[in-house]
Amino acid sequence: MSESKDFLRTKVEEDLASGKYKNIITRFPPEPNGFPHIGHAKSICINFGIARDYHGHCNLRMDDTNPTTEDMKYVEALKDAVTWLGFKWADKVYFASDYFPQIYTYAVKLVQLGKAYVDSLNEEEIREYRGTVTEAGKRSKFAERSIEENLDLLERMKNGEFKDGEHVLRAKIDMSAANMKMRDPLLYRIRHAHHFRTGDTWCIYPMYDFAHCLSDYIEGVTHSICTLEFENNRDIYDWVLDALELTPPRPYQHEFARLGMNYTVMSKRKLLELVNGNYVNGWDDPRLPTIAGYKRRGYTPESILNFCDQIGIAKANSMVDVAQLEFCIRDDLNQKVPRVMCVLEPLKITIENYEGEEAIDASYYPHDVPKEGSRKLPFSREIFIERDDFMENPPADYYRLTPNQPVRLKHAYIISVKEVVKDASGAVIEIKAEYHADSKSGSDTSGIKVKSAIHWVSAKHAKHVEVRLYERLYKVDAPEGLEDLNPDSLHIIKNAYVEPAVITEKPDVRFQFERQGYFYADPVDYTAALPVFNKIVGLKDSWSKKAESTESAPKSHVPKAHVEGEVVPMNEMERALFDKYTTELKLNTEIANTLARDAGLSAFYNEALCILNSPVSLANIVANEVARELKQANELKFSAQHVAELVKMMDEGVISNKIAKQVFEEIAQTGENPKAIVESKGLVQMSDPEKLKPLIDGVIAKNPDNVAKYKAGNTNLFGFFVGQVLKSSGGKANPTVVNELVAEKLKHV
Ligand code: ATP
Ligand code: MG
Repeated sequence: MSESKDFLRTKVEEDLASGKYKNIITRFPPEPNGFPHIGHAKSICINFGIARDYHGHCNLRMDDTNPTTEDMKYVEALKDAVTWLGFKWADKVYFASDYFPQIYTYAVKLVQLGKAYVDSLNEEEIREYRGTVTEAGKRSKFAERSIEENLDLLERMKNGEFKDGEHVLRAKIDMSAANMKMRDPLLYRIRHAHHFRTGDTWCIYPMYDFAHCLSDYIEGVTHSICTLEFENNRDIYDWVLDALELTPPRPYQHEFARLGMNYTVMSKRKLLELVNGNYVNGWDDPRLPTIAGYKRRGYTPESILNFCDQIGIAKANSMVDVAQLEFCIRDDLNQKVPRVMCVLEPLKITIENYEGEEAIDASYYPHDVPKEGSRKLPFSREIFIERDDFMENPPADYYRLTPNQPVRLKHAYIISVKEVVKDASGAVIEIKAEYHADSKSGSDTSGIKVKSAIHWVSAKHAKHVEVRLYERLYKVDAPEGLEDLNPDSLHIIKNAYVEPAVITEKPDVRFQFERQGYFYADPVDYTAALPVFNKIVGLKDSWSKKAESTESAPKSHVPKAHVEGEVVPMNEMERALFDKYTTELKLNTEIANTLARDAGLSAFYNEALCILNSPVSLANIVANEVARELKQANELKFSAQHVAELVKMMDEGVISNKIAKQVFEEIAQTGENPKAIVESKGLVQMSDPEKLKPLIDGVIAKNPDNVAKYKAGNTNLFGFFVGQVLKSSGGKANPTVVNELVAEKLKHV
């Protein structure tokens, strides 16, 4: 569970504490009319996550009340998605269509209570009569029908005596309600259509607003969590359940902000259009934001869960940067997968002074990944390197192989060019080179200086593979439709070569291809004869740079994978910094890695360190908050001095870590001095027991039931009390002190 509680969990805790519910039951209610996408993943994480955190359960319920668009294949995709993300639904998959008989009974009851009527206006008239936001609607004359007549008509609607649209069942609420949805909403409509589960049993189908709340009630759901666009439907939700005078407890609806992501469309209608129009290759196309797409591309469930955790739950819609999702997968794989070599666009090198072959013991993981393992890497006279890793007439900052510049073959020897072989058109087709026998990686005594190490494979031993490189599906950050598709979102490389260690019988494997990115053996098309690999994500967020540079520069047919590859091996200075950070300053490897690899960040960090000797706290804030700001803003409004002052207040306990983050945001926005912000806003952390005790007494007094439960042995509630105290202090109370005081207090109540 994340340490700071979101508003939904706060509500759930309140409802448990007040005894409103004994058990938490949530549900994830998709309509099976498309494959689930990353937005659904957020909803899955919320609903299943809350049920898990409070030892309740979550129902997977198909909201299949619309007979014309639904299909069993979507049901399977939804089950797959939930399972793949690591969640379990309760006993079985539920279907709203299973409740059709019960829901109908409830409709009859509403009519009997005089709270619903059969209307016979046509669609257009219904719309007209509804009125506008500024004008009240008027009620249909059919609203005056007697209960008997309504019951008879409803029965005959059900029996199929009328055509589509002839009658509807409406709730009798208020035609002048400010909330337009409350102006006698439709409950049932006639649809002579075949339903994928109930077949032709029904020719009337309940509307969402009638079916949803009742399905929740029937299942004993406590918290019906949905996205903000349903806010106006909440009044109907409540009205239906109250009007039916149901036995308590009943569910309540709560809304959160739906996930939107740049460069992505998330509407099922638009996704369907892409799939049906063959703009992509099926629902699991790795460029799609569907769970099936991410799964096939090689994303891990952990990376998606982390992403959902990071974006949090809010009440206001916002746009998340797709780079954040990419960061999550990169971050996950960085710690997990072996590094191997793959050449995408081969250039042959013949090493003239090398005879025979050898197997080099090459580590799978760099120093900063705490994993071990190695493979035998074959080396021989003929190798392939990346075509881009050689230039005959290089610019000054080119660090790879040139006629005058030797280069290291990663894990192996240094080579120098002897002859450049060209075809009739003048294109380079082969390099004849020599290797330096005393330069072997790990025992290099050659004294030759090189500026970089490049990847390669032994021609004789390499395996021919297909590699699929993906770019963003859309070329604009807020895509509307087909016109915004990126025409270059897929590059297929037919003739790539990988070292033998990459070929496995079990295709469910991920690798980092050195300097290229992370790759996944395609679960569908991979065969022993032609292994296929999908690029999951590049090594660094190179999109912004790439987008700028490709506008003027001519396009090569292979995206500039080498640009991002360049930064991968740490240079000497970075390595020295990394070592200093991890040993002397005791930073964890991840933070040290982030700082060491970014000259701007490490300079900022060092400057702050000169002002305040608090290496760990400073590093945390620089590697996270400052790094994020640097990425987003062109120019920082604050200096190392600001950050040092902020960390000092945190270290000294003047402000809590939580408040520190808020203050940081403020500094980043305004450039104001942190002390001034803390003082003017009264954010000083409360550590004085005398000031905290009244808050604790207040929380204890307000929650007698929970105190009793705690006393009776439910020690889980300890966190609840602490949380309530922190909340009542507006996040200002010092958590350590509160913990001690609450423990003390509970002993004596
Ligand atoms: P669309 O509007 O694309 O058809 P939907 O909201 O109708 O999507 P459903 O299958 O009805 O899709 O959604 C199932 C659940 O997932 C709902 O509770 C819905 O609120 C939630 N959900 C759908 N899209 C998102 C999103 N982008 N972010 C968060 N939750 C979402
Ligand atoms: Mg929907």
